Amino acid sequence: MANRVTGDEARRIKREHLGVGDRTKHRTRTAAPLKGLSREPGAQQRVYRFRVYPTAEQAAQLARTFGACRWVYNEGLALRAKAWEEHRVSLGFAETCRALTGWKRLPETVWLREASSTVLQQSLRHLDSAFSRFFRGSAKYPRRKSKHRSRDSATYVRSGFRWAEDPERPGTASVTLAKQTTPLDVRWSRAVPPGQLPVKLTVTRDRAGRFFLSVLVEEFISALPEAFLPDSREPKAVGLDLGLATLVTLDDGEKLPHPRLLRQYEKQLASLQRDLHRKRKGSKNREKARVRIARLYASIGDVRSDLLDRFTTRLVRENQVLVVEDLPIRNLARAATGRGSRRKAALNRSLSDAAWGELLRRLHYKCAWYGRTLVIVDRFFPSTRRCSSCHTKGPKLDVSIRAWTCTECGAAHDRDTNAAVNLREEGMRLYWTVAAALPPGQKPACVIRASDLVDLAPAA
Ligand SMILES: [Zn+2]
Repeated sequence: MANRVTGDEARRIKREHLGVGDRTKHRTRTAAPLKGLSREPGAQQRVYRFRVYPTAEQAAQLARTFGACRWVYNEGLALRAKAWEEHRVSLGFAETCRALTGWKRLPETVWLREASSTVLQQSLRHLDSAFSRFFRGSAKYPRRKSKHRSRDSATYVRSGFRWAEDPERPGTASVTLAKQTTPLDVRWSRAVPPGQLPVKLTVTRDRAGRFFLSVLVEEFISALPEAFLPDSREPKAVGLDLGLATLVTLDDGEKLPHPRLLRQYEKQLASLQRDLHRKRKGSKNREKARVRIARLYASIGDVRSDLLDRFTTRLVRENQVLVVEDLPIRNLARAATGRGSRRKAALNRSLSDAAWGELLRRLHYKCAWYGRTLVIVDRFFPSTRRCSSCHTKGPKLDVSIRAWTCTECGAAHDRDTNAAVNLREEGMRLYWTVAAALPPGQKPACVIRASDLVDLAPAA
C-alpha cells in the first residue's frame, strides 16, 4: 500500500477529520478472542431457520432496526472509503465502531439509539468481512446496501437477545430481542440442539414481507460411515453436470429440473406481471401487485431451497466422492444480452446462476459435515466434448445440441449425462492422485480443487 499514513499523524486525522475518537479505556487491555474463532474443536456451526410472526409493534421496531443497520453499513463504507481516498488512512472494524458512538450523539441521527448497539456493531462487522473478502481478492469492492436491492437483516450476538429454553419442548425457546419487551412468536418447525445458547440470531425480512429467524448453533455432527461400491473398497462417486435447461444431471442420467422453469410458475408470473403494469405507478394497487409477485418469487425460492436441500442430502448420503465442474459462473451470466429470447436466456442463466451457487454451497458444507469429499474439476476440462466411452475429444458442441453420436466409436450420448460421466472419471483421477500422496488410512480433505493442484496436467 503506497504512502499509507500511520501512527500519531493517522490518529490526528482520524480524530479531526473522520470523527473517530481515540481508544481510551481499552488501551491497556489485551483484546478478547473473537466469538467466532473460539469454538470447541470438532464442533460445526449450523444454522436453523424458522418463520417468525412479529406483532405490529415488534415489526415496526424491527423495520427501524433494519433501516438503522443499512444506514450504519453505508455510512461505515463511506467513511472507510473517504479515510483512504482523502487521507491515506485505513480504518478497521474497531474505528468504525468508535465513529458509530459519535453518530449516535448527533441530533440528526439520534434515532440510531432505537436499535440495539450490538446489532449496529454487527452491521459494521459484516462490512469488515466484505472488505476482507475484497482484500483477499475473493469479492468485488463492497457496495452500498439499498432499500430495494438488499435483503433486510439484523444480527444479534449473545448479549443482544434473551433465550429461555422451554422445558416442555427441549430445543425450542422463548426468544426476546434487545430493545423489545415481549418474546417473538417463532414457529418451531424443528428443534435446535437442546441445552445450549445459540451463538447468534439473525432476523430477516424478505421482499414478500415475511420474517425469519436464523439460529446459529454449534453442534457435533458425526461423519457418516464411508460409502463404498458393492463388494469393494472403491469409494462410491457421482458426477454432477450443472446446466441451464436442466439444473443438474447425474452420471446415471438422472435429471433435476429447474423449478423456476416449471410451467405453472411461468404462467402465474406472466399474468401477475401484466397485472402490475396495468396499475398506476406509486398507487396502492401497484404496491399490492408488487407484493403478490414478491410472494410468488418467495414461494418459488422455497421450492428451490427445499428441492436442493433434499437432493444434496441424498447425494451426500449415498456417495463418498462428489464431482462438480468449477464453473465460470459470472462469465456465463454475463454472456447473454439483447432482446426477446436472448433476454429470456439471460434470465434463465441468472436464475440458474443463483441455484448453482446455492447447490455448490450446500454440497460444500454437507461434505464437511458428513466426511465426504467434493472434487472441483478445472473449468477447462472438456467435459462436454469428450466421448465418455472412448475418450476422443470431439468438436465444440452448440448449446442447442442435446444428444450426439461419437464419430470414433459410435456411442450415442445424452449431452449432459456424458459430461457427468466424464466429470466423475476426471474427479476420481484427481481423488486418487491426492489419496496416493497421503499416509495410509488417512482420507482426503473435504474439498479437492483441481486449480489448487497446479502440477497435475488434466487428462486429454
Ligand atoms: Zn467415442
